[in-house]
Amino acid sequence: MVGCFLAFAKSVPLGSFVLPPAQPILQVQDLAISFGRGAYPATRGLDFSLAPGEVVGLVGESGSGKSVTAYGLMGLLPHGAKVDRGVILWKGQDLALTPPKKRRDLCGRHLGLVFQEPLSALNPVYSIGEQVAEIFRYRAGLSRAKAKAKAIELLGQVGLPDPQGAYASFPHRFSGGMRQRVVIAMAIALSPELIIADEPTTALDPTIAAQIIQLIQNLASQRGAAVLFITHNLRLLTGLAQRILVMYHGLIVEELTSFQDLQHPYTQGLWRALPPEPGLREDRRLFPIPGQAPLPGEEIRGCAFAPRCPKAQDLCRLTPPLLRPLGPNRATRCHLSR
Ligand code: SF4
Repeated sequence: MVGCFLAFAKSVPLGSFVLPPAQPILQVQDLAISFGRGAYPATRGLDFSLAPGEVVGLVGESGSGKSVTAYGLMGLLPHGAKVDRGVILWKGQDLALTPPKKRRDLCGRHLGLVFQEPLSALNPVYSIGEQVAEIFRYRAGLSRAKAKAKAIELLGQVGLPDPQGAYASFPHRFSGGMRQRVVIAMAIALSPELIIADEPTTALDPTIAAQIIQLIQNLASQRGAAVLFITHNLRLLTGLAQRILVMYHGLIVEELTSFQDLQHPYTQGLWRALPPEPGLREDRRLFPIPGQAPLPGEEIRGCAFAPRCPKAQDLCRLTPPLLRPLGPNRATRCHLSR
């Protein structure tokens, strides 16, 4: 049965892989973020980069540190969270050394964040149009009339059927899928060079989720933007991401460019736990990963996945594995990897 799963995994390609240009726009080096003055580490030393036009998936269970990473990149960490160490370079510029106002401007203009919960990202007392037009007025300096025209045009571009009507509507009148389109419109309004999409389809049914993913993919390719797509569902990244980073307990445990030859037992477990693809008749059982992911503050001596890993050995419980390169854009953090 397990062989059946791996055969299924091997049959699913990622997006066509293109080697990134030499100069990434974003470089993250040894990024550690914690809550409670270091008591609850959320990320424990992340290293990754994104090239222009590249779509990278960041995947893992709840609590693995994915969303904290997104908010850390944007400079929007919640109260109580802080960057303990590491560097975030935007086109070579260290964001930690950038004055706060300049950083807000830079992130607002060049990085667009698509929030997980569109309802909480939208202000219920302002119309949809006012919220989109505000970006053009205050960030791009357009007149009221021009900002309105741009907002209506953008609402049409993200697939809202009646952009004029949508402009005057309020968030509570929209479905979850329509609200997510509005949030995407706000994220891409200033043509950012990097779109960070934080579980943008979590609250949506599969059909709408597929439309939203297609929309992000189209917008990114039309505008040449890089995308960091955060999700707990590996399957969503099929045909979308050119590279996938798998996170567990605040660390990247595997980097993939294809679903063939998954090396890390956690990534293999994520595959086996996927429900059958809608519309496909797959005769297989689900194999949930046993146990629970460690809590953010939990210190584990060896490999953090050892308590749940079917292959764990004494070495795993004593010594934390390092992330070992396996080839171009391929790496794994497991003592047993080949
Ligand atoms: Fe499993 Fe050991 Fe690999 Fe950790 S290092 S994933 S416990 S085999």
